Amino acid sequence: MQTNFSPAQLADPETAAAEAVIRKCVHCGFCLATCPTYTLLGDELDSPRGRIYLMKDMLENGRRPTAQVVKHVDRCLSCLSCMTTCPSGVDYRRLVDHARAYIESHHSRSPADRLIRGLLAFVLPHPARFRLAAALGRLARPLAPLLRRSQALKPLAAMLTLAPAARAAAAPAQAASPPASGPRRGRVILLKGCVEPEIAPQIRAAAVRVLTRAGYDVSQVAGEGCCGALVHHMGREDDGLGFVRRNVAAWRPMVEAGEVAAIVVTASGCGSMVKDYGHLLRHDPALAGTAAKVSALARDITELLAEIPLPDIRPPAGAGGEPLTVAYQAPCSLQHGQQVRRQPRALLEAAGFRVREPAEAHLCCGSAGVYNILQPDISAQLRSRKVANLAALEPDVVATGNIGCLTQIAAEAKVPVAHVVELLDWAYGGPKPAGLP
Ligand code: SF4
Ligand code: SF4
Repeated sequence: MQTNFSPAQLADPETAAAEAVIRKCVHCGFCLATCPTYTLLGDELDSPRGRIYLMKDMLENGRRPTAQVVKHVDRCLSCLSCMTTCPSGVDYRRLVDHARAYIESHHSRSPADRLIRGLLAFVLPHPARFRLAAALGRLARPLAPLLRRSQALKPLAAMLTLAPAARAAAAPAQAASPPASGPRRGRVILLKGCVEPEIAPQIRAAAVRVLTRAGYDVSQVAGEGCCGALVHHMGREDDGLGFVRRNVAAWRPMVEAGEVAAIVVTASGCGSMVKDYGHLLRHDPALAGTAAKVSALARDITELLAEIPLPDIRPPAGAGGEPLTVAYQAPCSLQHGQQVRRQPRALLEAAGFRVREPAEAHLCCGSAGVYNILQPDISAQLRSRKVANLAALEPDVVATGNIGCLTQIAAEAKVPVAHVVELLDWAYGGPKPAGLP
C-alpha cells in the first residue's frame, strides 16, 4: 500500500514502524474471510483491510481520531486471525497497538467510556482490588438487567455479569512449589499474573503438579504480577510498560544467572504478551537485554510439555469407561498470537482423550481481554457462535488454554470447561477437574 508520511513523521520510530507495516499490505482482502468482526458485521471498515485504511489515514494526516476510526478500531478484537491468514506478512498487531495508543493520547472519550476503562485498568491487574471488586460485583449483580437497558452502561452490566459467582477456593498451599520428582530437568518460572489465580486457582495448582512430575522445580518470583496485556490492549502504553518493566526486573536475577530453563505461562493471552517483552523494551537501556532473554525463555505450558517425555499415564475415562471426548477450543492468543497449534491437541490425545476441534476454530470466542466488557454485544454474538460450534461436537468437556476464553465459554456452555493442563494433570495422576463425568 502506498503511503505518504512526511520525513518528520518518519523520524519517530513508532510511526516509521507503523508505516512499514502499512506498506506491506497489498489490498488482497484474503484476511476478510477470517476476521470475526467482518464475518459478523459484513462491513469492510470492520475488516483488517478496512481498519488498515482507517489507521493509515489517521496516522498519515496526523489528525485527531474521528468517531468512525475509534468505533472500528475499538471493535477489533486483536485476535490476530488476520495475521495467520495474510500472505504478505502484514504485522497487524504492531499497527493496531500503535493506533490504539495514538487514539488514547489524541482522543477524548465519553465520560462513561472513560469511567469504565479507568475502572478496568485500576482493578483487573491488581489481585487485591479484583477480589474486592468481585465481591462488590456479586452484591450488585441484580442491577445488571437495569444497566443493560442503557447503551452507555452496557459495559458495566457486562462487568457485573462476568464477576465470578463465588469466591474461588484458594489452591492448596503445598501446590506452590513442591520439589521436582523423577529425573530433574531444571528450574522454571511459572508466571502467576493477575486474574487467573483469582478466578481459577486450580489451573496453577494443576500446572505446578504437572511440571514437578515432569522434573521441573517451579519458582514463583516475588514482585512479579500482571503481564500488562489488559491495559496495553486498551492503548494505555505507559501503564502496560510499567507492568512489563516490573516483571522483567523481578525475573532479572534468575534469568541473568542462567538459572531458568523456561518462563512458563498458563494463560495464552499473557504468554503472547511476555513473548513480546523483548520488542516492547527494546529501547530501554536498563532492561532491553534481559527483556529479550525473557521473551526467548517464554513458553506456553503446552509448548514446554510437548517437548519432553511425560511419565506413564492413567488414561482418563467417562462413567461408561469410554475415553472422554474433549472439544478443544484454541485461544486466538495461542493459535494466532503465538502460532502454537498442534501441541495442546497432541498432548491431550497422548493422554488418552478423544479430541475434536470445532468448525470455525479460527474465530475468536469474543473474550479478547476486556473486549467482552467494552463490546458486550459483539462479544455475546461471538460467544454464542463459538458455543454452538463446540456443542455440535457433543463433547464431555471443552478444553482451552486461556482464562479469558474459559470464563467466556463457561458462561454459556452446557458442559464443563477446563484448562488443558487440568485435564493433563488428571491423566497424569492429579485430581479430576470439577464437573467432569
Ligand atoms: S485482529 Fe481479529 S478482529 Fe482485528 S482485524 Fe484482525 S482478524 Fe479482525
Ligand atoms: S491479507 Fe494482508 S495484504 Fe491482504 S488485505 Fe489483508 S492485510 Fe492486506
